[in-house]
Amino acid sequence: MTRVAVVGGGAVGLAAARHLADAGADVVLYERGGIASGSTGRAAGICYDAFAEDLDAAIGAESLRRFRELGVLTECPYVWLAREGDDANADAIREQVPRMQAHGRNVELVDPEALADRYPQLRTDDVAVAAIAHEAGHVDPGAYAALVADELDSAAAVDVRTDAPVALDDPTTVDSPTGAESFDAVLVAAGPETKPIVADVGVSLALKAYRAQALVTESLHATLPMTYDATQHVYWRPRDGGLFVGDGAHPVDPGDWDRQADDSFLESALERLRAATTLAPRVDRSWAGLCTATPDRDPLLGEVADGLFVASGWHGHGFMRSPAMGERVAAQMLGDGDGSVAHYDPDRFDGDEEFAVVEGMTLDED
Ligand SMILES: Cc1cc2nc3c(=O)[nH]c(=O)nc-3n(C[C@H](O)[C@H](O)[C@H](O)COP(=O)(O)OP(=O)(O)OC[C@H]3O[C@@H](n4cnc5c(N)ncnc54)[C@H](O)[C@@H]3O)c2cc1C
Repeated sequence: MTRVAVVGGGAVGLAAARHLADAGADVVLYERGGIASGSTGRAAGICYDAFAEDLDAAIGAESLRRFRELGVLTECPYVWLAREGDDANADAIREQVPRMQAHGRNVELVDPEALADRYPQLRTDDVAVAAIAHEAGHVDPGAYAALVADELDSAAAVDVRTDAPVALDDPTTVDSPTGAESFDAVLVAAGPETKPIVADVGVSLALKAYRAQALVTESLHATLPMTYDATQHVYWRPRDGGLFVGDGAHPVDPGDWDRQADDSFLESALERLRAATTLAPRVDRSWAGLCTATPDRDPLLGEVADGLFVASGWHGHGFMRSPAMGERVAAQMLGDGDGSVAHYDPDRFDGDEEFAVVEGMTLDED
């Protein structure tokens, strides 16, 4: 039997572990803290298939299907919009929608007045362009990850080891608090930590971390779609009777960053929400988390040394793509890859590239 290790108990590692086990592999999953203690537990859980590139769109659609099958997706349309005077984002939306439609996505430009009729709490008087994705919804990322981990553990399909920080002794030897073990293949899906972990065995990744902040408002009795206001640079989705609100890209050292949201973020996020809606929101709780970035805003997914695989670099879209991405990297590890994700091959970079972090929600391609 093929024996494999997965490093990282976030959405991506769990999805890969599930597929590896389903394919008959003997799987050990190492997580340095608790399940979903990294970015997954801090994410909004917004999911959609509204991607302009065909591969991304297919992966988004497949992942939505998986979340639905598990019964964890709350259906909710996703709207993204640009306001008057913001020509770059307005043009980007107009350009993206036909490309998404060409990939069969249920996406359309929507008249701002029609949007206001449907969602009276949304201010649309100065909206220049808006689009709506009908295939969309939200998942509670922490609850989903706990569900998957419990299923894997209780079915004894995967040996889930929490409080197990690991390092690599060589590409396929994992050193954990219980000792070193060798595997046929190892996947490192450790978010921003993926870079230092594989650096120990001489692999250099073009990967950076950036900090994203979030808040949840008190209950608002709001009836709003999930929304990205590209002009105000703020997004939200319904959560616990209020809204989960987020923004931001601030490059940081993944070993030294503030897990609390800044006061300035809380103030400006509420101000932008007030400008974009008729609501009077108040903060219930808030936090910060890390996202990962690559030079071309596509993930790094694939083999980086004999038997060593990575999956990271999600630009704030890792949760919504994790079921399908996990399956694809699992297939590669077992030698069954169909080449469909060659586009994300980490080898497209040398690993020492200089690049500026572009936050994942940004619409403008330049
Ligand atoms: C505020 C915020 C909002 C977001 N909203 C969304 C959203 O709406 N939709 C979306 O798709 N994405 C969203 N994201 C991005 C999403 O959270 C990530 O892309 C996704 O969770 C990545 O999953 P992962 O499994 O790769 O990483 P993680 O969840 O970070 O998991 C990696 C795991 O590896 C573990 N680890 C690290 N080092 C080691 C080690 N040495 N040994 C063992 N384990 C180790 C960590 O503890 C961690 O649990 C958001 C992110 C943030 C911060």
